[in-house]
Amino acid sequence: MNTKNPTLPGLHHVTAITGDAQRNINFYCGVLGLRLVKLTVNFDDPSSYHLYYGDELGRPGTILTFFAWPGAPRGRVGPPQVTATAFCVPPEAIDFWVKRLAAQGIDAKSGSNRFGEPVLGFLDPDGMELEIIGADQSADSTAKPWLSGPIPADSAIRGLHSVTISERKSESTSELLTAVMGYESLGNEDDRSRFRAGSRDNGSGLLVDLLLVPELRHGTLGAGVVHHVAFRTPDDAQQAAWHKIIAGIGLNVSPVMDRCYFHSIYYREPGGVLFEIATSNPGFTADQPAAELGIKLMLPPWLEPQRAEIQQAVPPIQLPTV
Ligand code: ZN
Repeated sequence: MNTKNPTLPGLHHVTAITGDAQRNINFYCGVLGLRLVKLTVNFDDPSSYHLYYGDELGRPGTILTFFAWPGAPRGRVGPPQVTATAFCVPPEAIDFWVKRLAAQGIDAKSGSNRFGEPVLGFLDPDGMELEIIGADQSADSTAKPWLSGPIPADSAIRGLHSVTISERKSESTSELLTAVMGYESLGNEDDRSRFRAGSRDNGSGLLVDLLLVPELRHGTLGAGVVHHVAFRTPDDAQQAAWHKIIAGIGLNVSPVMDRCYFHSIYYREPGGVLFEIATSNPGFTADQPAAELGIKLMLPPWLEPQRAEIQQAVPPIQLPTV
């Protein structure tokens, strides 16, 4: 790998906050049909769950994760934050989702188009803004949606489509994406600017939208709010190269953190949103075989000695039956 020009072929995951782990599992597995690919704890706060959802293996670009803070008050959606997280489905599947969400009692806004693609907008049980977008990107040959859930194969979520990052000023974020992180500008639609990963790997989560909202009140962290967004890079060597690049432009970047399923560095982009660069390896089969992902609480080796205390601290949970 050429570490002089390291790549970021798209998103790795989005991490948000939920106030109720069980309700969160019921929604993302039971309603949206994602796979719970890992049940673990927040490594920085082992008394709370960290839930990971994704495609059949939780491939980078398909992953949505939640810190579960029981009873956490709602945050306020607003800049500078990721204010919407969009999933990708085949364009023909939009009608299926309009009907499915209605049947589940979820109020969804349909009929809008963004850059020529149909968008269905709705909220999760914590009030987090989600979108399902019908896109040809869903023809991605590497997509392996989770087919043991409630959604038929032709309509299942393929992975992340994009995130919408809301900012009061967007020039410096736009410049970071294009001049440093290798993204290309795809143009504007109203106050929204779209960027696509410059080095693509045919995976999901290729797009980032910047939404300029100079008048909106600042967001606050809490349930229903995105905590950070992660971009993927293939391996540790490329991540080390990114560390140098990000530090070199004067941003404060964390040391490499071992998240077991990937390695992470974090930095706040100039607008204030927390960005992460995560390695695509080793992935969620690092400690469980593919067939057994998400079926029990997994702990990293350094927390395993505290398993009994941790299991007492977290609420009991009913896992999906598939
Ligand atoms: Zn993360």
